[in-house]
Amino acid sequence: MTTTVIRNVDWVVGWDEKAGRHVYRRGVDIAFDDNTIIFVGSNYPGDAERVIDGTDRLVLPGLIDIHSHPQHEPLYRGVREEHGVRNMHMTGLYERSQAFSAPDDEARAASAEFAYCELLLSGVTSLVDISPAWDGWIDLFARSGLRGFLAPGYASARWRLDNDYRLKFEWDEARGRAGFETALALIDRAVRHPSKRLSGVVSPMQIDTCTAELLRDSGDAARERGLPLTVHVAQSVSEVHEIIDRHGKTSVQWAREIGILGPQTILGHGLFLDTHSWIRWWSKADLGLIADSGCSVAHCPTPFARYGQIMENFGDYLRAGINMGLGTDTTPHNLVEEMRKAAVLARVAARDIEAVTTADLLHSATVGGARALLRQDLGRIAPDAKADLVVVDLTVPQMMPVRDPVRSFIYHAADRAVRDVFVDGRQVVADGKVLTLDQAAAATRLARAQRRMLEAAPQRDYRGRSADEISPLSLPLAD
Ligand SMILES: [Zn+2]
Repeated sequence: MTTTVIRNVDWVVGWDEKAGRHVYRRGVDIAFDDNTIIFVGSNYPGDAERVIDGTDRLVLPGLIDIHSHPQHEPLYRGVREEHGVRNMHMTGLYERSQAFSAPDDEARAASAEFAYCELLLSGVTSLVDISPAWDGWIDLFARSGLRGFLAPGYASARWRLDNDYRLKFEWDEARGRAGFETALALIDRAVRHPSKRLSGVVSPMQIDTCTAELLRDSGDAARERGLPLTVHVAQSVSEVHEIIDRHGKTSVQWAREIGILGPQTILGHGLFLDTHSWIRWWSKADLGLIADSGCSVAHCPTPFARYGQIMENFGDYLRAGINMGLGTDTTPHNLVEEMRKAAVLARVAARDIEAVTTADLLHSATVGGARALLRQDLGRIAPDAKADLVVVDLTVPQMMPVRDPVRSFIYHAADRAVRDVFVDGRQVVADGKVLTLDQAAAATRLARAQRRMLEAAPQRDYRGRSADEISPLSLPLAD
């Protein structure tokens, strides 16, 4: 057993169990044995093999990202930031996923390694990775040092466009079934991984691309295993209209009717509820149904904000009693930026400075995510919690003056101030460098993979367009 102590930390985000919230603590020691925190308080009395000086440091609980797609989103850098389709209520999801997808496993590996580095460097220690099952995933994840919740995705249908205004579905139920079996086998392998840092999330991909039977069986499989279930629900206007067309009710209401809402369920996005100004459906029941069922919502503001869409609003979800977590649906894989955007956009949506607080967002990015993942031992700095810690440097200019270091971190410095990261008691970032993976090498492979993806676009796009026609450069290229 190896004991590490971080001595006399200037500022600690500690956990007040009785109040159920994070609190600032000053000048305390944090000690951990192997992978578990054993002491938070003044003057740790025991011996330690490793002593770290906590002067000029803020120590935060490791951040928990409950929604990401690392195997392809980095391939979209420079492609998707301004890509959307006006005739599909601004979303570019359907056109983009038809024209551009990870061309091969080499691309997936490069993309995932690159994203894992970004996540670690911004203080994420636990990650829900929603990706199709691919070879090498478990090994790469284990190597990253992250705490992994692998969510192999599957679906009974594929989206297909013949034009830019009607979303169509190509159904293949046998494929969905086979994907489900493959996913469960992969999850069971992850759970058994000797690192004990890996787990799984049952992940039928979207409410509109899975049959009711596949969704129900997915819910049963999650409950049998004691694991979370995640599914994209209410992520686009087209999706909600499609479900109303099929079933006469909203996506959230249909999800409830088929029995997949519950405390183990994480709704991917849950943005377009019946109360949303872009939906305005008469029922006005979705928010209450999510709250009553005990579901969590994975909020990822960045991709939606880029389309001109916002959650209406994060504060109302919290006050309805919904457990809110955060995710990085796209690049940058930076959960600190997601906290900042979620706070600002909630206030814009509500026209109210008191819609949410910074503490609300930090809670969601830590304890909220832990609850969604059914884990009481994550997202907090307290004895018996896992030693997942982020050490922030208070001397970087964007952190100064240090009156309120969480505000400095979220609104100003973000990943620039992350110095060291520990996951399961093991140091995975030191002096702002990832120790476990090679981001520069992954970036070279990622750039080649992106070229392969872009070259394939004309064969995949419904109008046979080139990548530059689908997503023109932001500035014209001069002769
Ligand atoms: Zn997603």
